[in-house]
Amino acid sequence: MELEILEPHGFCAGVKGALERARRHPDAWCLHELVHNDQVVEELRAGGMKFVESLDDIPEGGTVVFSAHGVSPAVREQARRRGLRIVDATCPFVARVHREAKEFALRGLDVVVIGHKGHAECEGIVGEVVAAHGRVFVYPDLPPQGAKIGVVSQTTMNADDVAAIVSRLKDAYEVAAAAQVCNATKERQDAVKRFSGDALIVLGGAKSSNTRRLAEVARCRAYRVGTHEELAAIPLDGVRRLGMTAGASTPEKSLRSAIEFIAAQRGPKLGGAV
Ligand code: SF4
Repeated sequence: MELEILEPHGFCAGVKGALERARRHPDAWCLHELVHNDQVVEELRAGGMKFVESLDDIPEGGTVVFSAHGVSPAVREQARRRGLRIVDATCPFVARVHREAKEFALRGLDVVVIGHKGHAECEGIVGEVVAAHGRVFVYPDLPPQGAKIGVVSQTTMNADDVAAIVSRLKDAYEVAAAAQVCNATKERQDAVKRFSGDALIVLGGAKSSNTRRLAEVARCRAYRVGTHEELAAIPLDGVRRLGMTAGASTPEKSLRSAIEFIAAQRGPKLGGAV
């Protein structure tokens, strides 16, 4: 069996930056997971970081880390009111989407967010529009036909889906701008779409949006796995060419460990990039 490791892999710039900032404050309280990867979260937890789902769980005067997914202005304000010291680990690409969404709202446009309701990044973007007193809709919710809209996207969506949705919206609305996923997401999705083997393993967390999209855009059967148990359960009989990719928040050591695991399972028949 040939194993092909798709490029790029390893942490994206946004995850690297978030980790650098968080590691400077090992005793802080991180609001939600810094990034959606269990290994990363456990490593930070082992170093002393606490993970909370509400600012109310942080003692006054404590240091809060905002995750790479960003937060709404209301959350920032609440942290200030509580006297918390803020460490902002928001990815710059997410921050750019916040600025775009706010600008649309200030221009009086209805803002349509192509994203997953309930995901931290989507909630932060929605909160940005609300703070600017704008009207916001998370697709497929939409304003009345004919409205002038500004469209933004969660950074880790399926790039093809986003392009198709924007194109459809242009038939019914005056669309002020098109939304885009981030480069790290697009590059990995493009590599997956180019892969023409028999099966693909996508390493990454179940909650990681960019990881899940990689499994969705594959043109062969694809398996998202986060643990060796899940890896061991993948049916590889008959697979001659296996691809492996990883989400933008998956550590390189997880990839190396998965390669070694597969090599040990498949023994001398393994070839390709390993
Ligand atoms: S996947 Fe994109 S948006 Fe998310 S942290 Fe990486 S660069 Fe930032």
